[in-house]
Amino acid sequence: MANPTIAIVGRPNVGKSTLFNRIAGERISIVEDVPGVTRDRIYATGEWLGREFNIIDTGGIDLGNEPFMEQIKYQAEIAIEEADVIILVSSGREGVTDADEMVARILYKSKKPVLLAVNKVDNPEMRNDIYEFYALGLGDPYPVSSSHGIGLGDLLDEAVKQFSTDMEEEDDGTIKFSLIGRPNVGKSSLINALLGEERVIVSDVAGTTRDAIDTHFTSPDGQPFVMIDTAGMRKRGKVYESTEKYSVMRAMRAIDRSDVVLMVLNAEEGIREYDKRIAGFAHEAGKGMIIVVNKWDTLEKETNTMRDFEQKIRDEFRYLDYAPIIFVSAKTKQRLNQLPELIEKVSMNQNLRVPSSLLNDVIMDAVALNPTPTDKGKRLKIFYATQVAVKPPAFVIFVNEEEMMHFSYARFLENQIRKAFTFEGTPIRIMPRRRK
Ligand code: GDP
Ligand code: GDP
Repeated sequence: MANPTIAIVGRPNVGKSTLFNRIAGERISIVEDVPGVTRDRIYATGEWLGREFNIIDTGGIDLGNEPFMEQIKYQAEIAIEEADVIILVSSGREGVTDADEMVARILYKSKKPVLLAVNKVDNPEMRNDIYEFYALGLGDPYPVSSSHGIGLGDLLDEAVKQFSTDMEEEDDGTIKFSLIGRPNVGKSSLINALLGEERVIVSDVAGTTRDAIDTHFTSPDGQPFVMIDTAGMRKRGKVYESTEKYSVMRAMRAIDRSDVVLMVLNAEEGIREYDKRIAGFAHEAGKGMIIVVNKWDTLEKETNTMRDFEQKIRDEFRYLDYAPIIFVSAKTKQRLNQLPELIEKVSMNQNLRVPSSLLNDVIMDAVALNPTPTDKGKRLKIFYATQVAVKPPAFVIFVNEEEMMHFSYARFLENQIRKAFTFEGTPIRIMPRRRK
């Protein structure tokens, strides 16, 4: 099931990013233990009344040298394109400005539900200042104070109410995947080559507007797939589509909707910052991952070319050591026919459940091999392990002291679990819990 999306728009300095941080709380995607992964504060998940949603701060999408009014206009367009519910933020301190009016007009014309938040209403006396905002024609304004955390409950209640209820997608075994990568690495060429394969059946499924850009197809062995569209494939020529942040945001949205992410690298260019950032996000989101090195035909190959390239990737993406790497060429079609099968395998591994008895045997052997750490005369005791989730597989390990399960020991246990079971291509989670 795809999460609904809220987008925040408004002119600079009204408090968009403060509101975004409040709503996203601790859930802003940050890959802490991965050096070189930049923190993106434009896209996050949030939750209210048990509903999970995605949230975008369009103000964080840097639109370069465009004039001020143009930038806000593009941000509003992005919100209309990407979101299910839009929150227009204005400021009770400054009152209604020309820029507010312009954005309100653009949003008004869209069919999307728009909530008007009047921010910086830090105390009850200021509530009288919100009446002028009725003039924007967006219904009742919601007085909020993002920095004090006031009024957000009412705002989010209404936002959640506006989520349409028919977003459920049935789980019929269809595997959703996306190709993510920088411009020109060959994503479109790969897609065309994949879909152009004989015996691949592409179907026209009239889905929701959001699904309309996805491609449904069935592989030769009958497995249904959905390929999720990302920026770079559809060159619609809007100004903001070429900006880096927008492309990162689109990639993140595609990753969120995918079961398996194909990270496409260009054999000629190697690995860039963008790749690391995106890979870190997919890893955190618990998605299946395959590293696809495209344009393999362009390299002069010697005996160790593939091995060296693989080593380079492993060095750069240490935390992705579970991701299979495949060297392909969209041009010569080399190894392309192996891709659907590999995606299927990774998806299966993501859904793998291991029986508790086998799991505990593996853990006990692991502890015998490498005793648990001690601290101040006390030793970490492991009582029992059990798998609590799939997609990604997650293991709760009951212990005497949670804090004593150091990163390195959790990592060791993860490796032992990986050796015993087939979790290739999927991250797994190790979660120590104190036994009560
Ligand atoms: P953005 O440019 O719209 O993303 O705005 P920011 O979130 O960066 O906020 C701009 C300024 O307004 C910062 O100095 C914030 O601390 C301040 N601010 C944000 N929310 C509130 C609020 O609810 N009350 C007050 N008094 N200041 C706020
Ligand atoms: P995208 O921006 O990631 O969708 O990349 P494209 O699919 O548009 O490809 C960018 C360029 O790389 C085009 O000129 C393609 O013809 C070329 N290209 C794509 N895949 C390959 C490949 O496997 N080998 C070679 N030699 N060129 C490729």
